Formats: sequence, structure tokens, C-alpha cells
Amino acid sequence: MSIAENVALVRENIRQAALAAGRDPKDVLLLAATKMNDENRVRQAIAAGVDACGENRVQEMLEKAEKGAYDGAPLHFIGHLQRNKVKYVVGLAELIHGVDSAELLREIDRVAGKKGLVQDLLLEVNIGGEASKSGFAPKEIPAALEAASAFPNIRVRGLMTIPPVCERPEQNRAFFLRMKQLFVDNKEKKYDNVSMDFLSMGMSGDYTEAVACGANLVRVGTAIFGARIYT
Ligand SMILES: *Cc1c(COP(=O)(O)O)cnc(C)c1O
Repeated sequence: MSIAENVALVRENIRQAALAAGRDPKDVLLLAATKMNDENRVRQAIAAGVDACGENRVQEMLEKAEKGAYDGAPLHFIGHLQRNKVKYVVGLAELIHGVDSAELLREIDRVAGKKGLVQDLLLEVNIGGEASKSGFAPKEIPAALEAASAFPNIRVRGLMTIPPVCERPEQNRAFFLRMKQLFVDNKEKKYDNVSMDFLSMGMSGDYTEAVACGANLVRVGTAIFGARIYT
């Protein structure tokens, strides 16, 4: 199947999952996770109408951006961002998913201030409480939002998570539902520089479950581009 056909299929699955949950399919954004796909393949996904592209690695993103790979779609950074790479990502990525510490918030604010812009970002939640994963614990989110509200050059736009690896996608429902609850609870509180708009969760194996549980931004790689070959 072509990239365009895959995008159409993913869209259709999202549409059905949203309708089944009583939601408007238009409220769910489809981000193409473009890591390891070259600029031509990225362009095909954009032509097929994905709402955004997301990259994981700073170097790869810079190289592809240089070639105009993301022209026509918003670019997001969805990888693990190291503090010393913040300067390359701020201002280039419209939304930084996966901000996982107060130190990183501070550094993004500092760099954004220097560049004279306001950087949108999502806080990453370690919803499975896994030692191997980064992210805030759910109970740390209010304090993180409090901290973020003191930084004038960032705006928290929501939450992101990567749940534990499960054998069956339905097993992630409990995690997705907890994320939805956390999202709603913290949306109700009002903080400066915080507008809880995006709940980023769901990947190729479980995006329909994520949509059923309230995701409005899904990050899909394999189901659009095929399996990545790691060498
Ligand atoms: C690679 C990646 C995805 C997409 O994963 P697939 O299983 O290929 O859909 C989503 N989110 C993040 C953070 C990723 O790194």
C-alpha cells in the first residue's frame, strides 16, 4: 500500500473510533511520526493530508528541514530532548511533546526568550510509573504546571504519554483513561501560560484505543510508512 492509502486508512480508523466514542472525528489530529523516513516520504505523507509531522532526533530533523521536507505541515518534536539541543528545536518545532522535567522547562523558556518567541510544549507523563521511562508522575503535574506558569516564554498546551508496552492494545485503555482524567482535572485549574488543548497519545498499535479514551493528537509512524529498518 502507498503512503497515501495508509494515511486514508488510518484516517478512516480514527473516524470510526471517534464516532463510536461520540466524538467529532475532526477533533482528532493525525501526526505522522516521520523518523527514519526521508524527505520524499515525508512529503508524500503531507500531500496525503496529515495534520503535522513529528521528529525524534534533532540532527535528522535539521537535515530534513534544510531540504524543505516539512513544507506545508506543522513540525513537532516528539523525541527525548536533551538540554544542550534545546537551541536547535525552539522556534523550529511548533510544538515540543515530551517535556519531562522542570529543568527542561526552564531551559526552553530561556532559549525562547533569547529568540524572542513563545514556545508551545506538552508535558510528558510517565503514566505507567516505569523506571525506564522519563516523564512526570501524574501527581507531579500540578507542580509542573505551577512552575511553567512562572516562565513567560513557554506555553503548556497539554499532555503527552507513551504507555507501557502491552501485548494487546486494549491493555493500554486503563492508562489512556487515567491520562484523560489527568488532562480534564488539570484543564479545570487555571494557570498562566497554560492552555490544556492537546492530549497526545496513541501510536500505530493503539491509536484507535487512544481515540476511544479521549486522545486528540495521535502519533502514527509504522501504520503510515511501514516498518522502520534499524541497522
Ligand atoms: C516512533 C514514535 C511514534 C510512532 O510509533 P509507531 O509505532 O511507528 O506508530 C510515536 N510516538 C513517539 C514518541 C515515537 O518515537
